[in-house]
Amino acid sequence: MPPFRIFGNLYFVGTHPASSHLIDTGDGLILLDSGYPQTLYLVLENIRTLGFSPCDLKYIIHSHGHYDHLGATRALVELTGAKTFIGRQDAAYANGKLDLTWARELGHEYYEQFEPDVLLEDGDRISRGNTEVLCLHTPGHTPGTMSYFFPVSDGIHIYRAGMHGGVGTNSMSKEFLDRYGLSYDCRKQFLDGLDRLKQEKVDIFIGNHVWNNDTRGKYERMREQSYNSFINENDWLEFLKKSSDQLFAMIEKEETECENISNSGNRR
Ligand SMILES: [Zn+2]
Repeated sequence: MPPFRIFGNLYFVGTHPASSHLIDTGDGLILLDSGYPQTLYLVLENIRTLGFSPCDLKYIIHSHGHYDHLGATRALVELTGAKTFIGRQDAAYANGKLDLTWARELGHEYYEQFEPDVLLEDGDRISRGNTEVLCLHTPGHTPGTMSYFFPVSDGIHIYRAGMHGGVGTNSMSKEFLDRYGLSYDCRKQFLDGLDRLKQEKVDIFIGNHVWNNDTRGKYERMREQSYNSFINENDWLEFLKKSSDQLFAMIEKEETECENISNSGNRR
């Protein structure tokens, strides 16, 4: 996907498999998620295409500790010296103490670890230049998944952007939790987090995957029409609802499969 300005000082900088967003703070750049190591060259080129220099990257803030969101971080830190942020509970994913980055599941054996500079807690605020990012702890997809909220401005209007840090049900499935001996509590934590985020007013909903917020569709509508399709205060609540529905659908499917297995056992 091409890079583009979403609104004011907020930009999409790729890529289709995992989204990275750039915030121009007026005092350096913030990158939300670094993406796959294999797409780093695209993200760097996208930053340049938008007229910025990757050298001005000051902070890399991660939504959670999976390979598709932090895989390029070590190389980026070596290139730019940027400071890295991640939810406290996902630090062990980043530095390799826990082998749960999902790299293998995504088809990659090797992961370049890094030691995060700042471990985020619920309610932390990250300030840089004109930007203050509110960090809310929304565990479930991973134990340290963080969701982010921050104002964006074009100098005239100010809108509030928001991103949920991770809604994939893959890491909350029975199969995955059993395989790694993880607790099923993550499901309740995830639903509680979705409920809590309903309180947040979000005018511009961004996703850490393009399919979360229909990035491509919105980009194309924005190009064809005169309005900004990213500014829509209903999208956020619809997404939270859809995310809880997805988890319930997965649980229902698992329960049906369990019943089918025990029924076929009875017949034998
Ligand atoms: Zn993930």
